[in-house]
Amino acid sequence: APRVFSGIQPSGGLTLGNYLGALKRFSQMQEKGTHKCIFCMVDMHAITVWQDPAALTRSTREVAAFFIASGIDPERSILFNQSQVPEHAQLAWIFNCVARMGWMGRMTQWKDKAGKNAEQASLGLFAYPALMAADILLYHATHVPVGEDQKQHLELTRDIATKFNHDYGVDFFPITEPVIEGTATRVMSLRDGTKKMSKSDPSDMARINLADDADTIAQKFRKARTDPDPLPDDYESLSARPEAKNLVDIYAALSEQPTDKVMAEVAGMQFGTFKPRLAELAVEVLSPMSAEMRRLMQNPDEIDAILARGADRARAIATPILRRTYDIVGMVGRQ
Ligand code: ATP
Ligand code: MG
Repeated sequence: APRVFSGIQPSGGLTLGNYLGALKRFSQMQEKGTHKCIFCMVDMHAITVWQDPAALTRSTREVAAFFIASGIDPERSILFNQSQVPEHAQLAWIFNCVARMGWMGRMTQWKDKAGKNAEQASLGLFAYPALMAADILLYHATHVPVGEDQKQHLELTRDIATKFNHDYGVDFFPITEPVIEGTATRVMSLRDGTKKMSKSDPSDMARINLADDADTIAQKFRKARTDPDPLPDDYESLSARPEAKNLVDIYAALSEQPTDKVMAEVAGMQFGTFKPRLAELAVEVLSPMSAEMRRLMQNPDEIDAILARGADRARAIATPILRRTYDIVGMVGRQ
């Protein structure tokens, strides 16, 4: 049966990129009703770079609240945090022994996040893609909805599954399909059209946070970097104007219109006119969600109970798959 898995790191407040590239599409998959959906706050991934403990706790609950506020039903889907299901770490160890150092060293996220000072990066940051493969394969997930930036990690997940199956002569782990769809699979930074929008970007002005209020959203779009020319009438000519293209893509995704329809609407427009429209649209879409998130955050115990129950349901799927993996590897266990 088709099964969806996807995760979000509680490494800070969620951004518009996380919403358009991931969260929004999760509830669409849930609503299709054809896939069993498993969604995870990947707190163990988050600590591959330093996280203040109190902030990690808060972000985990806040991300969970955003999942629910964006339409994830914790009864129909499974919603939990990674560290409550120890099988993720256990399968990750097996995959650490399957994956090769060279594969990890080629990952662009590793290169971006470790930067020039790789010697000082955590071992966990280097091994991140093996844990991610474990997250997915622990549930034999067949489809993984993610933003474009995760494409390379998903290819590595396929490589790990293929090598495991080959080395042990089994047909056990599925070859997972990435699901990267829509007009906003890579939302860019508002300060630099060549860098992706990230919740961990040091500049808050580079991103729209889902929790930002209306004035902040308007101010961030107003100050977003752009070139001086008005908007063209065809989408193709935006390819040499990354900042302008990013704002148009965001507009198209938020208004759920194809880009040529948006171009017909904005052709010839100055950014001084376009940016306030974009801000208004963003506020219209995001503010009901952030209000609901804040309401849910008033009852952290309720969120924790939802995550605990989700973890129990996740474990019920994960435990037999891990046991079977150990058997394949030849690890003795109790019968
Ligand atoms: P961090 O900077 O801590 O890595 P992040 O913003 O990249 O945070 P993640 O938790 O790493 O967020 O990713 C969660 C999901 O959001 C993934 O599916 C990822 O592909 C997607 N995503 C992240 N940033 C963007 C973006 N700018 N545009 C579209 N999708 C994105
Ligand atoms: Mg990321």
